[in-house]
Amino acid sequence: MNKKRLATVWLDGCSGCHMSFLDLDERLLAVAELADLVYSPLVDHKVFPEDVDVTLVEGAVSSEEDLHKIEMVRQRTKVLVSLGDCAVTANVPGMRNPFATKAVYDRAYRENVTLGPAIPDQVVPRLLPQARPIHEFVTVDVFVPGCPPSADTIFYFVSELLAGRQPELSAKTRFGA
Ligand code: SF4
Repeated sequence: MNKKRLATVWLDGCSGCHMSFLDLDERLLAVAELADLVYSPLVDHKVFPEDVDVTLVEGAVSSEEDLHKIEMVRQRTKVLVSLGDCAVTANVPGMRNPFATKAVYDRAYRENVTLGPAIPDQVVPRLLPQARPIHEFVTVDVFVPGCPPSADTIFYFVSELLAGRQPELSAKTRFGA
């Protein structure tokens, strides 16, 4: 059997959804029998490759870098999964949305800094005006709410997708913990 190509991507999230993926524990071996993990913060691949079968995306789209990345990921992925409440609704990253970007920068880089307060103009990706859910920028194939989705839920839908089936998630997920 040809192995599928699986990827995971971390945008503006706390990494909790990736921790839940790691909570698959020994079931990671079952996933590894079905797919190669070709890109992820959990492995050492630096470039998102072409021809990925399934990509799980954690986090909202908050910066210019996030936007560039999700557009590229979408082009190279057959089935794109919006993983967790931050990806599905913007959730925690969206808490900055009522405030102007300048106020967010001032709070983070001037008001709460005692040594050399300054807004960075390089290295740190520039924020978009708001943190927004992934589906506002690219087509999403599967939505998996939860903060984070449980390991059981992740194992279920990943197994289904890698087997070429559409997961039925309505009874397995809910927003929040
Ligand atoms: S959905 Fe929850 S666990 Fe996942 S990245 Fe957002 S805050 Fe973290």
